[in-house]
Amino acid sequence: MLAPSPAGFRRLLPLLRPHRRRLGAGWLCTLVFVSSFPVLAWLAGQLIPAIGAGDIPRVLRAVASALAVFLLQKLAQFGQDTLLAGPALQVSQELRRQLFARLQRLDFSALEKLSAGDLTYRLTEDADRVGEVIYETIQDTTPSALQLVVVLGYMLFLDWPLALATLLLAPIVALLVSAFGARVMNAAERSQKQVSDLAALLGEAIGGLPLVRAYAAEPWLQQRFDIETDLHRRARYRTMTLLAQQHPVVGFIEAFGILAVLVIGAVRIQAGGLDAQGFATFMTALLMLIDPISHLTTNFNDFQQGQASLRRLRAIESEPVEPPDRPGARSLGQVQGRLVLDGVSFGYAAGQPVLHGLDLEIEPGQMVALVGPSGAGKSTLFSLLLRFNTAQQGRVLLDGQDLAELQARELRQAIALVPQQSSVFSGTVAEMIAFGRPASRDQVKAAAYLANASAFIEALPHGYDSRIEERGNNFSGGQLQRLAIARAVLGNPAILLLDEATSALDAEAEATVQQGLDQAMAGRTVLVIAHRLSTVQEADRILVLEAGRIVEQGNHGALMAAGGRYRDLCERQFIQMEPRTELVSPASSAP
Ligand code: ADP
Repeated sequence: MLAPSPAGFRRLLPLLRPHRRRLGAGWLCTLVFVSSFPVLAWLAGQLIPAIGAGDIPRVLRAVASALAVFLLQKLAQFGQDTLLAGPALQVSQELRRQLFARLQRLDFSALEKLSAGDLTYRLTEDADRVGEVIYETIQDTTPSALQLVVVLGYMLFLDWPLALATLLLAPIVALLVSAFGARVMNAAERSQKQVSDLAALLGEAIGGLPLVRAYAAEPWLQQRFDIETDLHRRARYRTMTLLAQQHPVVGFIEAFGILAVLVIGAVRIQAGGLDAQGFATFMTALLMLIDPISHLTTNFNDFQQGQASLRRLRAIESEPVEPPDRPGARSLGQVQGRLVLDGVSFGYAAGQPVLHGLDLEIEPGQMVALVGPSGAGKSTLFSLLLRFNTAQQGRVLLDGQDLAELQARELRQAIALVPQQSSVFSGTVAEMIAFGRPASRDQVKAAAYLANASAFIEALPHGYDSRIEERGNNFSGGQLQRLAIARAVLGNPAILLLDEATSALDAEAEATVQQGLDQAMAGRTVLVIAHRLSTVQEADRILVLEAGRIVEQGNHGALMAAGGRYRDLCERQFIQMEPRTELVSPASSAP
């Protein structure tokens, strides 16, 4: 059943290779299982005339042999099912694992293009469906196909003219049956569509009832409803009449097929091609074809659905991934934290630059605040520093080394990000802070202490082993931020990138977060996308970014005094967000 799409599923074959032995053993059991069918058919051929002749000893002998064969066959089936289930499941797990690994390396632009919901669907539903096809193919399709071949081979061996006549008859019967099935399907689809039309009209009618009444349009709506229900009734009636025809027609066609085989059988017996016993064996073998054929057709339908799923999974593979480190990428060594941007230009799409020739030097230990309207390019600058994206022109240097020449992993160990909204993975507090890094409990505690989080963590019923629920629902916004700060400082990064939360915390929470931040920032180079006045006032330097250009820079006092963009921004933005008196004093003291 792999034939219809060699390209799709065949590419999964390498995944089977590590399981060769188990598969081999399983299929050996399959061989025993299917070989027992001709033996059973032969025994049936012995048994039927013996029953007819009332020859009890012969009947008992044949029954005893049949029991022994059945026992062997069922044992083989058990071996087959258990031996093949393992590899089948492992292959689908491996497929899912590979896709997830790919997902983790996906380029961010590709990730944004594929929605989270869509990706989740692909990695759960689609992967499940493909897994089922793999499972069915290994464990059911292959044995069924083998059974079909063995039993057909045996029928040909018994009497090839009769077998050939049966083989010619079978497709005709199958064709007639499936043609009829298709008509029923079409009618069922049409009637399904009528139901949704009816539901749509009902939805409109219920929502628009006041309007309809206000216009006294009830008779008009009733008429529309009557037309729809009438169409619905007709479509249903058509489906039901077709179904009513289907059973007798299909039954008749099948009966015709079997009767035809009987007649041909009689002709063959008359011609001396086979005896009554052989014919009984033949008919038994014929019955043994029903099972594999029905399995193969069901599996074929699943296979076709699985192919669509496989295509959707494969599409992930064609998405671009993060480029690997350049060959010979350099190791960072001890990081001082000096950052230089040298004529950096960058755009997400060709011909649409987002950053224009930025020049910037930040000394180790400096704190630089980035301000500017949304869309100015602040987050984009962060993404360049983390090498999520690479500058199309110019260079970004860390301690004099071009980021593009460094190992991404090391670079990201030296630069820690505290995002605006911390993504939370469920797990314990200690796990959230360690975030996959091999950290001792003492290191986790030290990080939490620095982030001003240790007091609240230790007050929790299970301390560092307390669980964080999905999306951090059992923690406050301020607590989650402090955990995110602890996570950032755990690796003792030389550089901190902070994206301040815009959603307001209450004054007390803000004070505790600020204290955590102050401690975390000490002795590090810090770039912060600033939304709070307190942050920009503290900064050594403020960069005002607009449309991808630095339009002003200096400290708070100087920029306020200059009365330019920054002062505009402060008056428009910070006043709304932080209606505190501090803003008034520097502003009013400006000339
Ligand atoms: P800021 O952080 O200052 O609000 P951003 O760096 O997020 O600004 O965005 C700068 C510009 O780049 C905006 O015009 C934004 O639409 C665009 N942009 C940001 N991220 C992407 C992306 N992943 N793909 C395409 N365009 C983006």
